[in-house]
Amino acid sequence: MIDLAIIGSGPAGLSAAVYAARYLMDFKIYGQLPGGYVSEAHEIGNYLGFPNITGTELTNSFLKHLESLDVKIQNYLVKGIRKEDGYFSIHFDEKEEMAKNILLCLGTERNTLNVPGEKEFLGKGVSYCATCDAFFYRNKTVAVIGGSDSAVSSAIYLSDVTEKVYLIYRKKELRAEPVWIKKAKANPKIEIIYETNIKSIEGKNFVEKIILDKEYKGANELGVNGIFIEIGSTPSSAIYKPLGVKTEDNGLIVVDRSQKTSVRDIWAAGDITTGSNKLRQVITAAAEGAIAIHDVYQTIKMSKG
Ligand code: NDP
Repeated sequence: MIDLAIIGSGPAGLSAAVYAARYLMDFKIYGQLPGGYVSEAHEIGNYLGFPNITGTELTNSFLKHLESLDVKIQNYLVKGIRKEDGYFSIHFDEKEEMAKNILLCLGTERNTLNVPGEKEFLGKGVSYCATCDAFFYRNKTVAVIGGSDSAVSSAIYLSDVTEKVYLIYRKKELRAEPVWIKKAKANPKIEIIYETNIKSIEGKNFVEKIILDKEYKGANELGVNGIFIEIGSTPSSAIYKPLGVKTEDNGLIVVDRSQKTSVRDIWAAGDITTGSNKLRQVITAAAEGAIAIHDVYQTIKMSKG
């Protein structure tokens, strides 16, 4: 039985682990993708101290920090958590562990368009990760779907290697960070198509075209070799729903200023919470992890007298 289980190894979980280690707490951190989705970001330009760093580089610096404190991430996928009398039992594929307190840093799962062709062409022209797959589209034409930070920054990144990028957004004006929008609009390889949705993705063995819900330049289809779907993500709620923590309708866990959830002995941090004014950034996730640990530490200290 450990005092604390940190579930998730994105920026919130990793930051929490640094604080927990320095507070000499009895804890473990579990996660399968160190850095979470941040590890896949091609450019992070707003994390203090790093004007321009890739997700892999930033994740590696996080991991070095953990290493320096002798913290090892338990590489297990959490299948479920059950509240027992006075403790939690955490279920993995092959084992079960017990903890008195839980910090949920589970992050989110990518949204899908749910259109015909999306599943069929996954890995054959459909991608959810520009950093991972840009290389396959050298000198080709791609479409990026979405209008926020991931979509606009991916379009800019893809323009470095591809011949042309269509950025297709369902509303009238992009809503990414202004610095990204300015760069995208000034980029001659990026063509922005507004107020348009994708009806289907078509091709033979590989993606060849996408069908739009309205005409663009006289046709309702666009010839593309690849489509990058960057339409946000949804909290991974399957694990925490059964615990009864209070959530908003969108699945975000309601937390107070100390990152406490509505259920005793459960805290939450990062993109799955309503904290930090819902600003989903690396820096806010890391901050929430730190705030949570401070509160867990005080709570455990008080309970031990
Ligand atoms: P967001 O949730 O911010 O945006 C999702 C985008 O996809 C929106 O433009 C949304 O449209 C669109 N969308 C959602 N569903 C559909 C659909 N079914 N069909 C078409 N379009 C759809 O997700 P992001 O991944 O962009 O960002 C997540 C968080 O990560 C944000 O907080 C962001 O700031 C942060 N981030 C920061 C980066 C940075 O460099 N600072 C880089 C990447 C992410 P609509 O606008 O109509 O809602």
